[in-house]
Amino acid sequence: MFDLGEYSHRRFDPLKREWILVSPHRTKRPWQGQQEEANTKIPPTYDPECYLCPTNERAGGNKNPDYKHTFVFDNDFAALQTDVPAGKINSGSLIVAESERGICRVLCFSPDHSLTLARMKTDDIKIVVDEWADQYQDLGGRDFISYVQIFENRGEMMGASNPHPHCQIWATQSLPNDPTKEINSQREYSDKHGICLLCDYLKLEREQAQRIVFENESFMVLVPFWAVWPFEVMIISKEHRLSIDEFSDSERTAFADTLRRLTTRYDNLFQTPFPYSMGFHQRPTDGGNYPFVHFHAHFYPPLLRSATVRKFMVGFELLGTPQRDITAESAAERLRALSEVHYLNT
Ligand SMILES: [Zn+2]
Ligand SMILES: [Zn+2]
Ligand SMILES: [Zn+2]
Repeated sequence: MFDLGEYSHRRFDPLKREWILVSPHRTKRPWQGQQEEANTKIPPTYDPECYLCPTNERAGGNKNPDYKHTFVFDNDFAALQTDVPAGKINSGSLIVAESERGICRVLCFSPDHSLTLARMKTDDIKIVVDEWADQYQDLGGRDFISYVQIFENRGEMMGASNPHPHCQIWATQSLPNDPTKEINSQREYSDKHGICLLCDYLKLEREQAQRIVFENESFMVLVPFWAVWPFEVMIISKEHRLSIDEFSDSERTAFADTLRRLTTRYDNLFQTPFPYSMGFHQRPTDGGNYPFVHFHAHFYPPLLRSATVRKFMVGFELLGTPQRDITAESAAERLRALSEVHYLNT
């Protein structure tokens, strides 16, 4: 009998409408993962060399204020420019380009250089959630901004050179690739079934109860059936919310609670500050009507077996289809079993 826990198979991602390959039989190989010492290094609360710490000078000569909670500024080396002359190039539909305007910002979560979401207090993360909602409205309200992508890269493995707790916000004139794919899938699903794709998916996940990591009154945390990264998760709002600024005050606190608990479990998994890229997918701000878009967050962490053994997207995955060994169900089981008391506090 075809058993998802035994035999190689492929799974369908209904959001991106792409397949992924799963090879559960390979996890039967003996577990070679070396046990590493817990990483107990904590950075100082203030680093005079950090360009994000309060009162420090950034490259370019701007000085940070003596901020007490969050601090937002336009990225000194922004990937996108605000003033770009409109233009298009098209040679035979093969050499195609168009101008792209945008705004890139950096948002510091806390003045304390040593903290991470996992080790911040829920009340302090709630202030960050409020700031995300304000930024979404502020940037999304500009006439030339179609999408506000909020994301955090954490850890040197993800290319984040500065441990100061912060995220980035890139607001763009066009819709980025992944949101475009997901929005099209959500639109077609809702046209066909008369209900939202992720609302339906939450119902199925609750029925099957195999991939849920934890939940609170407003959010569900699960390893999606089609997860590519070993410990990939999604946070999905239980109510059908289109964007973060629609969250009620209690939902914002619940979202802060969700982020703290998830990142704590992550850190506890290999007793190390867990690297990841995470970000939110929500309603575009191009003035269109998107009632079928359902707010969610993706966490894409690279670690596989220990603090240093990571998954690579190479070979077949780069040229063909992404592949994983450990199933989404067993990843969820492992994340579910972890403590929500941070290992550095025990
Ligand atoms: Zn700092
Ligand atoms: Zn929904
Ligand atoms: Zn998404």
